[in-house]
Amino acid sequence: MKTYIFDLDNTLYPEEKNVFPLIDARINAYMSHYLKIPAEEVDSLRRRYLRLYGATMKGLMLHHRVDPEDFLAYVHDLDLTRFLEPNPGLRSVLHSLPGRKVVFTNASLEHALRVLQALGLEDLFEHIFDIRTAGYTPKPFSEPYLEILRRLELFGPECVMVDDLPDNLRTAKKLGMYTVLIGTTDGHGHVDCCVPRACRIREALEKLGI
Ligand SMILES: [Mg+2]
Repeated sequence: MKTYIFDLDNTLYPEEKNVFPLIDARINAYMSHYLKIPAEEVDSLRRRYLRLYGATMKGLMLHHRVDPEDFLAYVHDLDLTRFLEPNPGLRSVLHSLPGRKVVFTNASLEHALRVLQALGLEDLFEHIFDIRTAGYTPKPFSEPYLEILRRLELFGPECVMVDDLPDNLRTAKKLGMYTVLIGTTDGHGHVDCCVPRACRIREALEKLGI
């Protein structure tokens, strides 16, 4: 029996729901309104911090003394019920998976709970691992993955990681996990299998023989 580690945004609901652009816009607003960074510099700074630290927030903490809790509360302050609705199909698929299920997200626990509630999935996951799991170090850095394995008392090969970003699955694969990409495959060696939607996860598991 495996433990299923699910990413949240663009994995448990499709990218077309356009939740991510809303968060993106709030990150930009936070940087220009609160940090007074000129609007034309925001994009390049975000790209730089993403490249250097894996997340905009980490760069803002290091270079602008941003309080991560303040940042997380601001950027995830969204009324998600306007964008997401209960997904009974996904619910029954997840419910039928034999094994523990957890969420692993680079967002906050509060955001994860709002998303899961909007999707009608809030009672299906044993634990939510958020950006605080390893002191605000995000995926794809290995620290939060190792912390999750430690807390769940599991080894990599006992887990199936499901994520829409191939980079996040690379770390999972290095730790011996099975990896399922939500999306289309583009020949990444660290992706075991891919399906276009989370509700089709069983097809991936059958292919993997697990
Ligand atoms: Mg995602």
